[in-house]
Amino acid sequence: MTEVNRCVVVRDGTIELENRPDPMPASGEALVDINRVGLSHLDAAIGQGRVPFNGVPGQEIVGRVRQVEAASEEWLDSRVVVDPLLSCGSCQWCGAGLRSHCRERRIMGRDGADGGLSQRLVVPIESLVKIPDHVDNDSAVFAVPVARAIQAARQARIEGQTYVTIVGDNALAMLTAQVLVRLNASVRVLGEHVELLERCERWGIRHRHREEAGLRGDQDIVVECTGDPASVAATLGFVRPRGTIIQMIAPQVMGAGGTSLDLQRLVDSEVRLLGSSFGPVREGLNHIATDQVDVVSLVGVRRRLEDVPSVLVDPQLATGRKVLVSP
Ligand SMILES: [Zn+2]
Repeated sequence: MTEVNRCVVVRDGTIELENRPDPMPASGEALVDINRVGLSHLDAAIGQGRVPFNGVPGQEIVGRVRQVEAASEEWLDSRVVVDPLLSCGSCQWCGAGLRSHCRERRIMGRDGADGGLSQRLVVPIESLVKIPDHVDNDSAVFAVPVARAIQAARQARIEGQTYVTIVGDNALAMLTAQVLVRLNASVRVLGEHVELLERCERWGIRHRHREEAGLRGDQDIVVECTGDPASVAATLGFVRPRGTIIQMIAPQVMGAGGTSLDLQRLVDSEVRLLGSSFGPVREGLNHIATDQVDVVSLVGVRRRLEDVPSVLVDPQLATGRKVLVSP
């Protein structure tokens, strides 16, 4: 009897569970049994119709390799994180080592390729990152957002005593704060979940309730991790003249049309505005394996695949701890 592959499918704004035929790997591909998927703001945006996508969402994927061709059998039965970024390997950007800017770039679960909210998924072998034995699935599933935090840290270019404000206290914000504080930056997190903000003390990170933060215009770097229009607008009040704002989530993804940034003020204060996107997943996993970030504190509720259609439409999804799905 052939198996069926239970999937969460988004199609024209509706979310349904679907049984599809078991996928078959071609040459250069692996069939992965999915063990864990972390839900991100992007999954929420797709589930709530703010980002158009037809297919299976889910970019934070952990699984075990069930089937590969004989030439790649060293991967068989390996526990893996899947790097959700697909690149062509031959364009000028790939050639320059910048595969995240590939001309043919696609993100699994966001554009042109299915993501991990299913029982099984076929992915290119080159997208697999092996998980060290001592790292459990719950921790490994954070490799993709930790990679994003590492990417933001690189763009921030911390030199000397740098004052950094992280706007937001979702999982992405908390990971970014932890990565930046290890670079000897003076980091402050602005959020609204008291129990999450208290975690910051353990990591040596200052914190304040979002509404209590003064607009002193004295921060070297402001990292905006919410996409919330009011928070985006406030970044210009926190950053110093000629400072840097790093935007991690686009306001469009959170439902706000266009930007809420005062561009005249940006011009007058000569502030640099940077976008920051997907990062190096292998390094993200390495940060977790070597205890450079605490991800266990960020594990939220656990759900089954069957629960996902109702979870994806929850407006609070991805605003606090990470929801983990076990298919
Ligand atoms: Zn390319």
